[in-house]
Amino acid sequence: MVKIDKEKCLGCGLCAAICNEVFEMDEENKASVKSQKSLPCVKEAIKECPVDAISE
Ligand code: SF4
Repeated sequence: MVKIDKEKCLGCGLCAAICNEVFEMDEENKASVKSQKSLPCVKEAIKECPVDAISE
């Protein structure tokens, strides 16, 4: 299951840019999971998140 640690999330928007099918930004400008999908871009977003806020 894809999870975001909202305490860590900086709101940079990178994960949503990398993997739009799975991540979106919420009203507080934190990343949230809009759809639980195991796509290669999820792994990419996990790797690229500057604060390691994403886990799977
Ligand atoms: S890449 Fe990381 S810090 Fe940036 S919005 Fe996504 S979860 Fe937050």
